[in-house]
Amino acid sequence: MRLLSSRRMLVVASVLALGLISACGQDAPPAPPSASPPAAPPVPPAPPVPSFEPPYALGTPQAKVPPLENGLVPVVRRIHTDKPYVFITIDDGQVPHPAAADLMRRSKTRPTMFLTDRYVEGHRGYFKDLRDQVGATIENHTLSHPNLRGKPYEVQHKEICATSDAYQREYGKRPYLFRPPYGNYDDTTRRAAADCGIKAVVLWTETVNDGAVQFQAGTKLKPGDIVLMHFRKTFVEDYTAFLNKAKEDGMTPVLLEDFLSA
Ligand SMILES: [Zn+2]
Repeated sequence: MRLLSSRRMLVVASVLALGLISACGQDAPPAPPSASPPAAPPVPPAPPVPSFEPPYALGTPQAKVPPLENGLVPVVRRIHTDKPYVFITIDDGQVPHPAAADLMRRSKTRPTMFLTDRYVEGHRGYFKDLRDQVGATIENHTLSHPNLRGKPYEVQHKEICATSDAYQREYGKRPYLFRPPYGNYDDTTRRAAADCGIKAVVLWTETVNDGAVQFQAGTKLKPGDIVLMHFRKTFVEDYTAFLNKAKEDGMTPVLLEDFLSA
């Protein structure tokens, strides 16, 4: 029994030794000449999106912002134009989606971003890159996203002015358009905004949620419509839904500031 055990151990040891020699490479095929790592799996091509040839050089003023009304900034719900142009605006800024720049570039569209300072803290560089690399613009959507309607002048003034001050400092350009959170404002908002250098309060005509354009009236985008979406996890679905709908309805997205030039 003991003898058998020893023999068995000897056999096992021999097999191990052979394996070791093999592992040392003596019997192994020669190693490939280069030590480069294996190729990464191919990146699937991004799905196609509609693209829009700019009908004029975007960034060129096309129409003036309306004048102040008794010291109050005008409220713009839609752009008055008979040309087949629509405008895309993106609010808040909690989710800096990595696909945004690529989508904007491939579709040749330049959105206006109404950013809330508290939400973009920590990833300001992301929005600066969108502006510098794609030509998106940065406008004011308050410090902390409160419902402004009915708030005292001092509160509203701080929410608007401190944001414009911060963006001027951080991004090198002072916003001149303002979007009140929830679309809620009053005359105090319009007065405080004027005192902060804002030229217009900008609302919207359609919203994009969960990958679908939602209409308050009708089913088609019309000349001058201002569409609202958000920096959310569904950014790709939402932005693509807007692009598809604009294409379907024969509209070209152009830059909002061009039609509200200061
Ligand atoms: Zn908002």
